[in-house]
Amino acid sequence: MPAVGAGFWYRARSRLEFNMVTPSPEKAGVGPRSADLDDDELALGEPADARDHELEEFRYQVEDMVDDEESSGAAAERPDDGRPRPTVHRIELDEERIDQDAAKVVRRLVRAGYEAYLVGGCVRDLLLGRRPKDFDVCTSARPDDVRRLFRNSRVIGRRFRLVHVLFGGGKVIETATFRRAPEAEDERAATEDLLIRNDNVFGEAHQDARRRDFTINALFYDLGRGEVLDWVGGMPDIERRAVHTIGKPLVRFLEDPVRILRAIKFSAKLDLGITPETYDAIVEARKALARAAKPRLFEEILRLMREGAAHRALFLCWETGVLDVLLPELSTFLAAREEDDDRVWQLLQEIDRRTVERGPLDDVVLWTVLLSEPLREACDGARDRVETAHDFLEGVVDRLNVPRRIAESIRRIVALMPRLESGRGGRSSRTPHYPIAMEVLDIYRAALGDAADGAFDAPEGPNDSAAITASTERRPRRRRRRRRS
Ligand code: ATP
Ligand code: MG
Repeated sequence: MPAVGAGFWYRARSRLEFNMVTPSPEKAGVGPRSADLDDDELALGEPADARDHELEEFRYQVEDMVDDEESSGAAAERPDDGRPRPTVHRIELDEERIDQDAAKVVRRLVRAGYEAYLVGGCVRDLLLGRRPKDFDVCTSARPDDVRRLFRNSRVIGRRFRLVHVLFGGGKVIETATFRRAPEAEDERAATEDLLIRNDNVFGEAHQDARRRDFTINALFYDLGRGEVLDWVGGMPDIERRAVHTIGKPLVRFLEDPVRILRAIKFSAKLDLGITPETYDAIVEARKALARAAKPRLFEEILRLMREGAAHRALFLCWETGVLDVLLPELSTFLAAREEDDDRVWQLLQEIDRRTVERGPLDDVVLWTVLLSEPLREACDGARDRVETAHDFLEGVVDRLNVPRRIAESIRRIVALMPRLESGRGGRSSRTPHYPIAMEVLDIYRAALGDAADGAFDAPEGPNDSAAITASTERRPRRRRRRRRS
């Protein structure tokens, strides 16, 4: 496998002449995916084979729509009410991939006289030829009106009042009233109480589109007319396969730094480029991530690893310097490693391979594998591996609010590894950490082959056997005071 070196994304970008960037690592032959994807997962632009051919045709349909002046004609049929006009693209999305319950929600709202659309990730995924994970609806109807129309629904949220319309099998169609971004002066005047209301300012469809994060996430699909409404230039970005913020990238990232991780997630999992302006703003705004809500950071990092594109996502984090802010323990390890040491990337590829094959892995497995190489180095030769792992993880736990359950499991697993590896894990098979530790070991073996042998080998420290049988309560719980911010 060719080494994945720092600067790849920038170098690749500067070689491209058009306004698109960041081909994924596997485009350069080092990526985790391609052959293992099924039809639904296959993205446009991957190596051509029979299945791609169909998708290529679809891509040209999209291009036609974007280029076709006629496609905007429908806008003229709408009443001129002084509101910003969307660009309208006539396109019949694949009915078979549209959730019929979501379609029911939209149609009933429209029959009741409201505006209602499919919106966000589902429209984006359908346009990219993927099967959406879930379907969101947005509407001009207020939450209480939606609630009245659907007996099987409930209003949720305090800050953002949304309606969950419930269907069989636990399916939820999230139905949100159009909102607009709060005005700057509203924010300045905000008291805590005002803030709650200001976060939930109802608006119109075009305002709801503009408050969203990326252009590709702000397309509205009018089911009745078979039209995509685009107020933000999302359709051209779908066509050129680019992640681009709505509005000025730096402003949008500073407003909500978690959007940085979202940009990386969409680029990685959908195999899209990131436009130069957006990419540069990620680099510039990355330190703001340290001010974001820690539980959101923790969750977003997991999402980067759960989607079958962990390798690409983490590579982008590293390349942009985001990893220095979120996980300096890993980024310094990567910077200091031998040039030909690709173990971290190989492990992430193995995670992707398993995810594509079997679905998302356990959170503890994901975190343990992500941190395993620097952890292994830290524990190398340590007499007490649990204690050493504890010290190593302290910074990560504080920075990202890692739940105690997960941090504790990682420590135990790291302590167990040398025994499992050498086949001395008999007694430990009764502990709750055993199956997870075995999976981590399995990933090591599958990713590194012979090189995995002895990876965790270390002289048995005095506390290793205790670690195996001890409950998670062995160490007195440290009470951390909640910091008010
Ligand atoms: P996924 O398939 O990963 O769920 P998604 O686009 O549906 O992707 P969600 O997190 O479910 O992502 O959010 C739904 C929509 O809400 C997004 O498509 C986007 O329009 C909007 N959104 C979500 N998070 C933000 C944010 N931080 N800032 C602005 N808009 C956001
Ligand atoms: Mg979603």
